[in-house]
Amino acid sequence: MYNPKSLNAEEFISNEEVLSTLKYAEENKDNRELIDEILNKAREEKGLTHREAAVLLDCTLEDKNKEIIQLAEKIKRDYYGNRIVLFAPLYLSNYCVNGCVYCPYHAKNKHIPRRKLTQEEIKNEVIALQDMGHKRLAIEAGEDPVNNPIEYILESIKTIYSIKHKNGAIRRVNVNIAATTVENYKKLHEAGIGTYILFQETYNKESYEKLHPTGPKHNYKYHTEAMDRAMQGGIDDVGLGVLYGLESYRYEFTALLMHAEHLEAVYGVGPHTISLPRIKKADDINPEEFDNGIDDDTFAKIAACIRIAVPYTGMIISTRETEKCRERLLHLGISQISGGSKTSVGGYFQPMPEKEDSAQFDVSDRRSLDEVIRWLMELGYLPSFCTACYGSGRTGDRFMDICKHQQIHNFCHPNAIMTLKEYLEDYASPETRAIGEKLIAKEVETLQNPDIKSTVEKDLVKISGGERNFKF
Ligand code: SAM
Repeated sequence: MYNPKSLNAEEFISNEEVLSTLKYAEENKDNRELIDEILNKAREEKGLTHREAAVLLDCTLEDKNKEIIQLAEKIKRDYYGNRIVLFAPLYLSNYCVNGCVYCPYHAKNKHIPRRKLTQEEIKNEVIALQDMGHKRLAIEAGEDPVNNPIEYILESIKTIYSIKHKNGAIRRVNVNIAATTVENYKKLHEAGIGTYILFQETYNKESYEKLHPTGPKHNYKYHTEAMDRAMQGGIDDVGLGVLYGLESYRYEFTALLMHAEHLEAVYGVGPHTISLPRIKKADDINPEEFDNGIDDDTFAKIAACIRIAVPYTGMIISTRETEKCRERLLHLGISQISGGSKTSVGGYFQPMPEKEDSAQFDVSDRRSLDEVIRWLMELGYLPSFCTACYGSGRTGDRFMDICKHQQIHNFCHPNAIMTLKEYLEDYASPETRAIGEKLIAKEVETLQNPDIKSTVEKDLVKISGGERNFKF
């Protein structure tokens, strides 16, 4: 029985509701009148239900598909302007007791080098990341209660926040670790994490159980209800995602939006972010062996429809994707990207020779952070290292409130300008810096509020003079 307010995974992600939505979408994929009605509602920029969004995803009318893309681009601009937030993943440990068939960290993989960073090694990684200019990290670890217990994760977070190297500091640590208990989520919350990210991989229970044949992750209900426990533990910023390629993208898209609706219905706050990972080649993983791979056009359509359905939810694309694909998705709704990423344990301080590599998957975008920043600016984007929402307690429903009222510009735009300025002063190559200084001058001119503008101008002078005590 479908019930978005239920705390039971099989009721808030009811299989029957997903299937009946898919049938409805299929039946209406060329229903011009209905599609126009949905598009008109979407133009209010307050989102759509999973049913409405599923119809847009299936839409086969060429002119309407163009409108869908244009609307996604407009919503992206209205909510997020030209800002793109940067982050990097930090792999702490690839010990894992699970049997996920798409992930090379699965327990049966006996030849991949297993590594777990010591606190000293974490320090080296963080210094290397700070020297690139990063301020936001997403920590990643396999699930292994013996090698990676919660105490290890908490100690690592403490270490990361404690490192102040030159002008660097990590101001926000997001966490992507396996589903855990309310008690452990409380501890993560108390450790000052930013977003708790957990990919569902697939919402289809039957496929989920096959794709996770062994280990604690096999438990569909425990995994799917993780965000509820995270919220109960006090974490109000959660990040959703499915791994495209495992199951039918139509099923995943619909169920993902149902998950977002569930969080909104029960906790009054939807997901802070939605990530869009696609399965990639990895150590003993061949993506071609999975039947549900999606091409770039479908991927772009999914991104556009998510943007329209949940305008106030940030969207993330990682270096799993190529420069070309990332460029396309940036226009359609992506608000955060990773840059200069390494997906191996210890990969920043000392890159590994290939045969000793512990990487989780091959990255497609191998450019340095400096190259990514320059590229973004050349495309007209404003790269941001802003973490102010977190620093000033603007998280969860408070953040959503600002975002839903499209007030995000007043906070985020100045912070983006100033954090870019810090980056240019401290880390950029001369070429990137030259482009960046011009961009900053242009962006300051766009600030409408005279008080904000004059504060930004004064702070930019302070940053040039070496001051770094800002709370972005
Ligand atoms: N072990 C934690 C968990 O179970 O959620 C942490 C997640 S793992 C380090 C990060 C994510 O990488 C996974 O949730 C999965 O979606 C993704 N991933 C695993 N194998 C992948 C592959 N071959 N290609 C692309 N992404 C992959």
